[in-house]
Amino acid sequence: MRNETKIVVSGRSPELYGGAVNTPVVRTSTVIARNMAEWDRLAEPGYKGLIYGRLGTQTVQSLEAAIADLEGAEAAFCFPSGLNANIAGIMSFVSAGDHVLVTDTVYGPVRRYLDNELKRFGIEVTYYDPRLGAGIAALIRDTTRVVYTEAPGSLSMEMQDIPAIAAAAHARGAIVAMDNTWATPLYFSAIAHGVDVSIQSATKYIVGHSDVGMGIVSASGEAAAQVKKFRNNYGLMSSPDDAYLAARGLRTLHVRLRQHQQTATGLATWLGRQPEVEKILYPALPEDEGHAIWKRDFTGASGLFTVLLRPMPAAVYAALIDGMELFSIGASWGGFESLIMPVHPEKVRSATPWTHEGPVLRFHAGLEDPADLLAGVEAGFRAMRAAAAAAG
Ligand SMILES: *Cc1c(COP(=O)(O)O)cnc(C)c1O
Repeated sequence: MRNETKIVVSGRSPELYGGAVNTPVVRTSTVIARNMAEWDRLAEPGYKGLIYGRLGTQTVQSLEAAIADLEGAEAAFCFPSGLNANIAGIMSFVSAGDHVLVTDTVYGPVRRYLDNELKRFGIEVTYYDPRLGAGIAALIRDTTRVVYTEAPGSLSMEMQDIPAIAAAAHARGAIVAMDNTWATPLYFSAIAHGVDVSIQSATKYIVGHSDVGMGIVSASGEAAAQVKKFRNNYGLMSSPDDAYLAARGLRTLHVRLRQHQQTATGLATWLGRQPEVEKILYPALPEDEGHAIWKRDFTGASGLFTVLLRPMPAAVYAALIDGMELFSIGASWGGFESLIMPVHPEKVRSATPWTHEGPVLRFHAGLEDPADLLAGVEAGFRAMRAAAAAAG
């Protein structure tokens, strides 16, 4: 079955719910046993039925089954946020004295967690250049338990040679975790490329409608058992209502992504031709530094890309942002609506220099009509040029 079909059929069991197409919202805290034998069964290892609300009900389980199927993993685990899932992808595997290698372009709040919280547990973190590839071998120590990856990198969009990194990590017995939110399992099969623990901020494309926060971790074998133990020990779970909405979003992921990619490619191409733009960071463009790896390993691109602008006065930059119609300023992405966000990559990296001098603007191409969006961007550029002319 192709992934586009799995998205539609996986994790659904109408026969269990009177023929209902979607797994209903099953809410409960307590799960009642009618007799002692039933009660004892709940405690048996590997018991598949409901045990307690905090361990998930059918609504969460059916979403997890669909995601595991799509990822090619034995199991998937929902978390209340993408950030929780990122943290689980590291903390499930480390103890005091261990070492973790983390890509320098990791999602900013993960770095904040590592620098503020992980330190307190006596676990050492080294940030590495995302473009190292097989060169990561030189940084792996006997105590390295996790090599954490994310491609393309947050804000600055560097691609990573995941198969080369995975081969080097596995040769030394380290686990490879990947934040695969940008591509989703549809456009990058992380596990098939050597990743052990594939992480989604489902808040973005899986939910797709900007109304739920959720993270999902997929893994197999011992790695899956450790993630499950971590989640249950910390009492982390998504609500049935959130899981219902995420499953609803999932069913159209492939159709939405196609449009996000088409619109983003059009906008990025137009933007790349403007004299005020120095560079576009979007691996799907042939001139992008990471294009060769993207083309080799990925099957598509999503709607998020970054624009490096030439230096300009703050007021001129503000005129560009304020003048852009249909693009709201906002964090997050992956929803149906277009967004822009001024970003500062230089503040969230420590192992690699950031040499670009002008402002950096991140775009999320939403599902509005592409021509309307282009007109909105053009309006911003007109406002920017008028502001620049007025400033002399
Ligand atoms: C947003 C995001 C996260 C965190 O997801 P939340 O649900 O907001 O906690 C993790 N990784 C990436 C790449 C993200 O963009």
